[in-house]
Amino acid sequence: MPVYVYRCRRCEASTDVFLRSVSSTSEPVCASCGSADLERTVTSFAVSKSEIDRLQQLDPKYYKKVDAAMRNTPEADPMRHLKQMTPFGAASDPGPPIDF
Ligand SMILES: [Zn+2]
Repeated sequence: MPVYVYRCRRCEASTDVFLRSVSSTSEPVCASCGSADLERTVTSFAVSKSEIDRLQQLDPKYYKKVDAAMRNTPEADPMRHLKQMTPFGAASDPGPPIDF
């Protein structure tokens, strides 16, 4: 069932219009002021936001899974690379200092 979002040219309010079919010819009116002077809004932001909403509805553990995934990223443990470095006392002699 297609859902369209219309923006009222008179009061700027958004109205969701549910159509029974694509070929439906029902005239949408503003839910706020009743005006028929509407324009259909198409924004990619609205689409991607609804995608995230759908993911959250599919999996109630969404945030726990995000947290678990973030724990495995390098940013979660900034000291990891320092711990892997050779301790200063255990480093081999690099030889005489270089004269610049
Ligand atoms: Zn309106």
